[in-house]
Amino acid sequence: MIEVSNLRKYDTGEVTRLEADIAFHDMASPYPERTIYFEVADENGHMLADDSYDAFVLVPLWLAMLHKQTLHIRGKISKRLYQNIKWYIQKIWCDFYDKLSPAKVIVDGFTKPPEKRGDIIATGMSCGVDSLSTVYDHFVREDDPDYRINALFYFECGVLGQYGVDAQKMHELNMTRYAQAKTIADELGLPCHYLKSNVDTFRKLEDLTKANYLLVYSCVLSLSGAVSRYYLSNAVEYEQSKIFREHFHNNDMSEFCESYLVPLIGNERTDLIIDGCQYRRVDKVANIADWDVARKHLNVCWRYTPDGSNCGRCPKCFRTMLALEIMGKLDNFAAVFNIDDYKRNSLGYKINCLKNYGEDPFDTENVDFAKEHNFPMPERREVYLLDGQAVLV
Ligand SMILES: [Zn+2]
Repeated sequence: MIEVSNLRKYDTGEVTRLEADIAFHDMASPYPERTIYFEVADENGHMLADDSYDAFVLVPLWLAMLHKQTLHIRGKISKRLYQNIKWYIQKIWCDFYDKLSPAKVIVDGFTKPPEKRGDIIATGMSCGVDSLSTVYDHFVREDDPDYRINALFYFECGVLGQYGVDAQKMHELNMTRYAQAKTIADELGLPCHYLKSNVDTFRKLEDLTKANYLLVYSCVLSLSGAVSRYYLSNAVEYEQSKIFREHFHNNDMSEFCESYLVPLIGNERTDLIIDGCQYRRVDKVANIADWDVARKHLNVCWRYTPDGSNCGRCPKCFRTMLALEIMGKLDNFAAVFNIDDYKRNSLGYKINCLKNYGEDPFDTENVDFAKEHNFPMPERREVYLLDGQAVLV
């Protein structure tokens, strides 16, 4: 059995922390941590909901399903979240990942529905294409105060993706990224709040890496004391998650099922809204390509660089620059990308896009996007030498 208990909120002397214990009975725990926590600056302490275990359910549930254990939450959770876990969420996760089995979930009661929901409508700011597109649509273009973003968050919860980099370096990189997010927030006149969590500790066995966004969902649920709506920027569009279903199966949970999973994650206080599934990624690049904020601050890179800048050589950098080149807008992004370096080195990436057409969703949409704009990609039915190997495209 996996048991979660002893929920408490306290001031560590530096920050306010929401924390619970996690214990593994009848099995040796492969994880070093014995607690899960979420912490924010003291002035944001009221945002952390300490009457509910909702933020402490998803990751322990994944572990219970992975290790074939019963999950016992020794406290109250949202009835809505409990019902969704019981009837839908476990089924979706089992469809996604073959190593999971349904788990029995025991809770000690349900949280009282709130008399009044919080007034924060927020999204995360990673400075990437997805989050900038969400902010552009739901802050710059939205005028309904019930749906317009009024705060940004930066979560340090292990989802930057640079695995293998030591903890201190990763923390420094997170601080750099947070400073970038705060610069954007300042320009927009929005607050940008920082939250740190250790939920990524339980990714040790790699299996949870496939479901990285559970860490983000958990961070959002911890803020139920103040956040009423939270936009989560999507990875792939509705149609792509169907077409490339087998590509994502056992590989990436958010791409496999986020369009129908995320709406099931919220509780009576906080709605999680999956945003951007109406767009391909190239459409989101087009959405923000003329926005001065994006031109100054776009940061898409998933490779570690000491100053947190775009490396210009990873697939995310390449795919973003190719979409901009196709639209004739690449030179407008000279502040964030090395354009000359891209022009010297992009042929190989373009050939790979043609080679992977129909197999990789992002390579496929870039080829389609080029066709839509009459952009000359390398000719098909030609042989190229790529990394010493002949490639026919
Ligand atoms: Zn990069």
